[in-house]
Amino acid sequence: MDLFLHATQNKTLNLATMVGVIAIHVLALTAFFTFTWAGLVTFLVMVVITGGFGITLGYHRLLTHQSFKTPRFIRYLLTLCGCLALQNGPVRWVATHRLHHKHADTPRDPHSSKEGFWWAHLVWTFYNQPELASVDTCKRFAPDIYNDPILRWMDKSVIVLYLALAVVLFAVGTYVAGWFVGVSLVTWGCLLRTVYVWHSTWLVNSATHYWGYKVASSPDDSRNNWWVAWVAFGEGWHHNHHVYPRSARFGQAWFEVDIAYGAICMLKKLGLAYDVVTAPPALAAD
Ligand SMILES: [Zn+2]
Ligand SMILES: [Zn+2]
Repeated sequence: MDLFLHATQNKTLNLATMVGVIAIHVLALTAFFTFTWAGLVTFLVMVVITGGFGITLGYHRLLTHQSFKTPRFIRYLLTLCGCLALQNGPVRWVATHRLHHKHADTPRDPHSSKEGFWWAHLVWTFYNQPELASVDTCKRFAPDIYNDPILRWMDKSVIVLYLALAVVLFAVGTYVAGWFVGVSLVTWGCLLRTVYVWHSTWLVNSATHYWGYKVASSPDDSRNNWWVAWVAFGEGWHHNHHVYPRSARFGQAWFEVDIAYGAICMLKKLGLAYDVVTAPPALAAD
């Protein structure tokens, strides 16, 4: 790991996460030997549920940045979807991301792009962050999440919830169409889907701090990147987001399509989201 010598200073290796991340990448290859159409549909549906509703709407825009409010059951439901993405529990995810915004592209940023593309994309997950080394210190950065007993329970139960989903998918697939479909729902709906959502989230930390355009001056290297916006439900308008982090609306110009903001507007129409924060129009690129 000489490549990341500077980035890993003062950080300890998190062997369990490293082995887990690599193992899921390898196991996800089994999806290509267990293809079924039901598996593919489950993959797509679970990408939307865990990546779109869970990470983008739940963990990121609602919990981390409080860019809109929801009734409590929607807050818990979105967080549950986030847990199923297997990207840490809500306490540590929120704390890590708040730290990123506070110290973006400096040595205290958990995934500073200054340390190289692969560090910002993936390798940072293999290390414990000194400022978030324990849940006790982690909760300092996310007290609003930690102090909610249900969110804290979810935080501790991420792996159990993920395994429960795999069991449910296997059971449903096997009951409806036989064991092979059951296996296919797990390999496509859990394993391959997890790898896809991981990388789409990680691209927001890596690619959108490398490639794209800026519309305002900001001290970090964040960029607006159209193709990351498409694979990550609008999160690719990451420069707009760094300039005005509390806005629920990341896409500002007419061509900056932001699927997640569309979903928030839909929830608002249904009475399930309110107090939606939007960026001032001056930010729009024209
Ligand atoms: Zn960023
Ligand atoms: Zn953010």
